[in-house]
Amino acid sequence: MPVDPSTATLLIDGEWRTGAATFEVLDPATLEVVAHAADAGPEEALTALDAACAAFPAWRATSAEERATALRAGAAAIRAAADTLAAIMTGENGKPLHEARGEVMGSARMLDWAAEEGRRAGGRVTPQAAGGPGLVLRAPVGPALAITPWNFPASMLVRKVGLALAAGCPVIVKPAEQTPLIGTELVRIIAEAGGLPAGVLQSITTTRPAEVVGALLADPRLRKVSFTGSTEVGLSLIRSTDTHLRRTSLELGGHSPAIVFEDADLPSAAAAVAAAKFANAGQSCIAVNRLFVHRSVYEAFLPLLLERVAALRVGHGADEGTTLGPLIDFAGLDKVERHVADAVKRGATVAAGGRRWSPPEGGTARPGLGGAFYEPTVLTGADDSMLISSEETFGPVLPVYVFDDEDEAVERANTTDYGLAAYIFGSALARLWRAADRLEFGIVAVNDPAPVRPELPFGGMKNSGQEREGGSEGIDAYLETKSISMKL
Ligand code: NAD
Repeated sequence: MPVDPSTATLLIDGEWRTGAATFEVLDPATLEVVAHAADAGPEEALTALDAACAAFPAWRATSAEERATALRAGAAAIRAAADTLAAIMTGENGKPLHEARGEVMGSARMLDWAAEEGRRAGGRVTPQAAGGPGLVLRAPVGPALAITPWNFPASMLVRKVGLALAAGCPVIVKPAEQTPLIGTELVRIIAEAGGLPAGVLQSITTTRPAEVVGALLADPRLRKVSFTGSTEVGLSLIRSTDTHLRRTSLELGGHSPAIVFEDADLPSAAAAVAAAKFANAGQSCIAVNRLFVHRSVYEAFLPLLLERVAALRVGHGADEGTTLGPLIDFAGLDKVERHVADAVKRGATVAAGGRRWSPPEGGTARPGLGGAFYEPTVLTGADDSMLISSEETFGPVLPVYVFDDEDEAVERANTTDYGLAAYIFGSALARLWRAADRLEFGIVAVNDPAPVRPELPFGGMKNSGQEREGGSEGIDAYLETKSISMKL
């Protein structure tokens, strides 16, 4: 049976526990309370760290194959529970059910990938030197903390957990306070299906992330932090200690450009841009935040894009046909409104949307949709001076810019403090290659709306982060390199 979240969302040292207090979990579409989660404090977090430290020697000593078998069992159990997990996610995050299900299935693929990578994380033997060989070993870094966001509350969590466990590191998960339920349920499924020993996988839900994480960061026994969230908090984690170093992976904000070159397949580029912008109501770190269209195809492209946007159906994520859910909260909506008002003040034109959404009178939407809904919006006539051109919007608003040549498009696309993902659409391979090579982003999607695959490293340059998750590189974040010099 799934854990009753109103009683116990803390998994500490093999036991599900309640906290001294609980907090409400809201459905962002209706603002109704869907559950309560335990509100942990620093004491519970430190108890979990004690358990992780105690579990580490035995977990690192298990064979890589044994750990892989446990993770594959977790992946199979996630697939088997996909419908339930998707419903839990939609209930607290608001995204359409089909997107939630896709995220769950993607999480299972990531867990399988981590299982395989753990078995390949070997070292090497150097050429013989005088007296003996040298060995390069890779050893698990130690107890890890995974801090995850609300926007992809399953895939971000599973990606970290899988790599940490595969490498031999116990891991404490701290899900975002808006979405504790899906994180808790995934931890339960992975721990139970894999038969994980106490302390190897633990979960802490809290409304006091700074305090709880701060207590863990102050303890040098915590050897690794993997964080996905805002650049602001990511930077604060790096600054958090001046007494000891710790391995820190950061997956932070983004400001993705998309460039439509003059030889793009326009209908499929329009579909791809709409998908890459409006999935999860634009609340994705790799959402398109600036769309550059070549002047010669702008007039032909814009109606194709607007047609895609007009086809979006706003509503409760659990309702049949919904393709755009609410924003997570009204703070998110305020930012969206600020960006649109600023752009319009500076000369942009609202070509679609541009307002808060409420259910149409006499329509079929369920009653009580009081959440932070915003219409899918396209702004034309955007320029680089607008707030939206430099700040991450995290909402369903797409500004469109016109460009004249390739150099100009690439330079303007690179003009951002972020460097997570960029999208390019076209057919001349030489131009696509040149652009992909020059774009300063960790991920470049070529004619692809969804550049996330377990076998590709995921992560950003500049203020979008450090280290990578996934790909053959992902497990490195949980491994130390040790050199052994031998005289035999
Ligand atoms: P956030 O930084 O506020 O929260 C993310 C996580 O950090 C949550 O678990 C939260 O509880 C925790 N947290 C908050 N304050 C903290 C503190 N002082 N110390 C320690 N932990 C703290 O981010 P958000 O606004 O909830 O999430 C959206 C951001 O995440 C966006 O900027 C988005 O681009 C980014 N994101 C990045 C990726 C990526 O892979 N690069 C993926 C998804 C989201």
